[in-house]
This record gives sequence, C-alpha cells and structure tokens, in this order.
Amino acid sequence: MPVYKAPVRDFQFVLNEYLNVGQYKDVDGFADSGPDLMSPVLEAAAQMCEEVLFPLNQKGDKIGLKYNDGVVTMPDGFKEAYKTYVDGGWPSFTCDTNYGGQGLPEVLNMPLMEMVCSANLSFGLTPGLSHGAYNALITYGSDEIKKRYLPKMVTGHWSGVMCLTEPQAGTDLGLIRTKAEPNADGSYSITGGKIFISSGEHELTENIVHLILARLPDAPKGIKGISLFVSSKFHVNDDGSMGSRNKIRCEGIEHKMGLHCSPTCVMNYDGATAYLVGEKHKGMRAMFVMMNAARLYVGVQGLGIGEVAYQNALAYAKDRLQMRALTGAKFPEKAADPIIVHPDVRRMILTQKAFCEGGRALAMEMALKIDLAHRHTNPEVKKECDDFVQLLTPVVKSYLTDGGFDMASLAVQVYGGYGYIGEYGVEQYVRDARITMIYEGTNGVQALDLIGRKLSYGAGRYLRAFFHPLDAFISKHKENPAMAEFTKPLYVHMGYLQQATLWLATRGMVNPDDAAGGAVEYQRMFAQVALAFVWARQAEIALGKVGGSEGEFYQAKLDTARFYMQKILPQNIGLLASITNGSKSIMAAAM
Ligand SMILES: Cc1cc2nc3c(=O)[nH]c(=O)nc-3n(C[C@H](O)[C@H](O)[C@H](O)COP(=O)(O)OP(=O)(O)OC[C@H]3O[C@@H](n4cnc5c(N)ncnc54)[C@H](O)[C@@H]3O)c2cc1C
Repeated sequence: MPVYKAPVRDFQFVLNEYLNVGQYKDVDGFADSGPDLMSPVLEAAAQMCEEVLFPLNQKGDKIGLKYNDGVVTMPDGFKEAYKTYVDGGWPSFTCDTNYGGQGLPEVLNMPLMEMVCSANLSFGLTPGLSHGAYNALITYGSDEIKKRYLPKMVTGHWSGVMCLTEPQAGTDLGLIRTKAEPNADGSYSITGGKIFISSGEHELTENIVHLILARLPDAPKGIKGISLFVSSKFHVNDDGSMGSRNKIRCEGIEHKMGLHCSPTCVMNYDGATAYLVGEKHKGMRAMFVMMNAARLYVGVQGLGIGEVAYQNALAYAKDRLQMRALTGAKFPEKAADPIIVHPDVRRMILTQKAFCEGGRALAMEMALKIDLAHRHTNPEVKKECDDFVQLLTPVVKSYLTDGGFDMASLAVQVYGGYGYIGEYGVEQYVRDARITMIYEGTNGVQALDLIGRKLSYGAGRYLRAFFHPLDAFISKHKENPAMAEFTKPLYVHMGYLQQATLWLATRGMVNPDDAAGGAVEYQRMFAQVALAFVWARQAEIALGKVGGSEGEFYQAKLDTARFYMQKILPQNIGLLASITNGSKSIMAAAM
C-alpha cells in the first residue's frame, strides 16, 4: 500500500525562510501569514489530506465512476470527503471577503493545493476547477452575476467547471461551434456539445456552475468571435436560491487512462439559459486572465504526484533488499543490502527530491508574485511581479507536469516489477500524471507561448524580470567561496540560456520552424536554470543554518543542491546543442 505524509516542514521552510512571506504583512491579506498562524493551518490541511483524501485514492482508482442516464456516481466515501473539505472552510481560503471568502493570498493556499493533489488528484480536480471558475467570475462577472453565483461557490456548496473543448476544437479554440442566441430578457440560450469536461456532472455539490465558450450569431470567425457565458445545472433565482433544472445534460463519461474518479464528461447544452460574462466576442481575453493561476495549479498537480511518488520510492528503497553495495556490504547481517545503497537507485531518488523541493519553491514563488502583482500598492513591484509571472507561467506548467510524470515513472523503476503491479499503488501515479502534460494547454503549446509571445514582449521586458535578479544574486556572491559551487554553474548555465535565447530570437526571424522546432527543449532549459537559481538560494539559507539545531534538514538541502548542480543542470549542454542544430532534420524528414 502506498504511503503519504504531507511535507509540512518543507512548506514552512519555503514560506518562512525562502520567501519570507512575513515581510509582506502590510500587503492586503498577508497580515496573518506569519508562522504562528500558518503552522496550525498547515497541520490541519495535512491531516485532512493524509487521513481523509489519501485513503480513498487507490480504492477509488479501482472502483471508478458509474454513469447512468445523465447521472454520475462516485465511489463510496467521495461525497463524505467533499463534505469534510467544505466543512473545513478550505474552498473559501483565498476568495474575496465580500462574497464570504477569507481573503488570504494564493501563496498560502499552495501547500493545500499540493497536498490535495498528492493525496487524491481525482478528488482535487473538482475544487481546483471551481477555483478557476470563481476567478473568471470575480474578474469578469457583472455585480448581478457575482451576487448570484459566488457566495455558494465560495463555500464550496456549488462547484464550477470550464467548458471549452469540442470534438473539433482542442488547442484551436477558434474552431468552437457552440452557439449562444440572445433572449428577450437579456439572457442567452446555449446550444451545442462539449467534450472532456472535468467535473461536468457529479453528486458532490448541490449545483454546478458552467463557464462556457460559445459563439454569438454576429460573431466574427475564429478566435476573435468567442464569448464567455455562465450557466448552471439548476437555474438560480434572483434571491440566490435554486430553481428548476436547466437544459444541461451529461451524455456520458470518458473512460480514461487515469484519474478514474474524476468525471470527464460529454456535455450537451440544449438551449440552456446562460448569461454573458465580460464583453461580447472577448471571451478568450477573460480566459487568458485566469490562465496564469490555472496553469500554475495544473503544474502543482504534477508536483503533488511527484511528491507522493518520491515518498513511496524512498520508503521502498530503504526496505527492499537486493544485491550488495559495490564498495562492500553495508548491512552484512542482512541477506542483502537495501537497494538505496546502489548509485543508480540513489540517483533516481535524488532526482525526485531535487524536483519536488525545487519545484515546490518555484511554484510557491510564482504564487507569491501573482499575489503581489494583484495586491501590492507599489506599481513598480506590481509590474516586476507580473512580468515574472507572464514569463515563467509556461515554463512552470510544463516543467512541473513533465516532471510529475517522470517522477512517477522513476518511482515505478525504483520498485522494479512491483512498481508495475497494481497492488503497490505507484503505477497509478504514472497514469494519473499523464494528462497534466496535455490539458490547460499542451506542454508543446506552452513552449510556443514562451518563444512566440513571452520572449519578444516589450523588447525583452519579461526576460529582464528573470535575468536581472539572477545576475544580481551571482554578483552578490562573487567573493563568497562557500557559495562558489552553486553560483559558478549557475553563471555558466545562465550564459547557455542567454545563448539559446539569442539564437532563437535571431533564427526565429529568418525561419520560424527553427524557433518552434527547439521550443520544447528551450522551455526545459529555461526551467532547469530557474530551478538552479532556486537551489542556489536554498543553499545560501542552508549554509547559514547547517550547524544549528536542525542541522540534518539543512544538510539535506545542501546535498540536494549539490546533486542538482552536478547531475541535472549539465543536461542543458545537450539541449543547447540540439536547439542550435535548428529544424532542418525535423522538417526535411520524410514522414
Ligand atoms: C482528462 C481530461 C480532462 C479535461 N478537462 C477539460 C475541461 O475541464 N474543460 C475543457 O474545456 N477541456 C478539458 N480537456 C481537454 C483538454 O484541454 C484538451 O485535450 C487539450 O486542450 C488538447 O486538445 P486536443 O485534445 O484536441 O489536442 P489537439 O489540439 O488536437 O493537439 C494534438 C497534438 O498536436 C499538438 N499541436 C496542436 N497545435 C499545435 C501547434 N500549433 N504547434 C505545435 N503543436 C500543436 C498538441 O500539442 C498535441 O500534442 C480535458 C481533457 C482530458 C483528457
């Protein structure tokens, strides 16, 4: 049976030492962000995830969902778990206080999101998507719409879903055909079909709020003719109470490789009553505003899976006895040594640890920048933070989701044949993680966003939000021999990344295929340098504390930072060579 223990100490390290969120106590919502108040919150979230959500994960995977005549039924325990989640007040954590939320910053919510994803990703999709729908409505909804839908969404009694995809329209949402006809009373009637709608139908909540992309009769063709609408499974009366059933029906559920308890629904809208959100034909703009947070959340799904996969691989490697260490028996009293003595097993586990702890710090740093971009009063800080978020969003989404899948696969490898067997639980992580690289914009499309929109923006303005602090950090430690083993590789690889950036920018003007052909590799290189920067800063903190009361914790940070610099970061050399080899061998090949 798999195990999961929430990494509370590492969350505290990131919040209090790496990000030092206490320094922002004057920023709106941060007053309660200190360790005294946050530690009990973290402990309570950890307990719920470990004791309520995690035990349902493996069981739910085996039982799966049932569909019957428009109704989706979840395995026993999910409804009760969702009630526990709602009763704990977790859905309202970061929501607006005007609608019953607690108004806390996203960065404080990140540990909860990660823990839920580690414990039970299928479960996590419903509250995660609801939060995305909430974000769209709070940003673009009229006051009337907000009053009607938000209070129940904030408490979690109603959930929200995002309805974009149609059979012919996946990445290319300009191909959407769902229609919206205006009604005399100012509402609209939505007609059409959507596929792959996560949590489109379920019994966890009293009502389901649908955010739907559709086309008005006078819409221009393509992406510029898409509008955003809000509708709901049950009509909502003016006083906020629930009315009769709307013309929304789940026609079936997709049978998937993983996420067996997340209902991925085929939805039919047969003249469903809906309301316009934001301006006519500007639906994609509304979607883009909330995409940074949504993409970060999907990245955290990968991180969460990576963490639980790592924990299980580590526990198994300490227990499983096979062969002797190359340098002589380490446990001569046993029939064989535990496999953790073998260099290749250690390499796999350290790869997971470096990914999880580095990725966690990077994801939480992103969340903090999103908060500061919204909440800080200094326009200069707001701009810098927003620039960082714009640039790093595709990088973080793709790196954490590619990594989540890779770390799950490494866990299977550490388990050997037992990893491939259902009972041990780690193969589920491989299946569950795979979709995160596809939805919320495939990772290939993230790379196109990075090289196509983010690099060139404002003559490299976004890039400066990353390179300037990196450069400043390296300069600060120029004369610090204790940091040299971290800052030297960081300096060298920053140079490689700049070289790749320049190559893509110049070659991309001559032949766009050259830029697009290397985009995914460039995105990976970017992420690996960003993680090196994270690890160098974690090492800086650890160096100052390694002799103290929690010496072991900080020593492990230093060990992992060293491993990252020496064994992961050098992969960039190969990536640089491949990027600068251009696209000829790709585009000229006969297929
Ligand atoms: C389990 C699950 C849950 C989902 N949940 C939701 C949901 O809640 N709401 C919702 O609306 N949708 C949802 N989706 C849909 C998901 O967002 C889409 O599958 C995704 O956007 C990709 O679209 P597609 O599957 O049509 O692939 P396509 O767009 O057909 O892409 C196929 C391949 O071509 C590549 N490609 C496409 N265009 C380009 C290009 N210009 N350059 C380079 N490569 C390109 C892609 O990267 C991909 O590798 C879900 C899907 C699944 C499987």
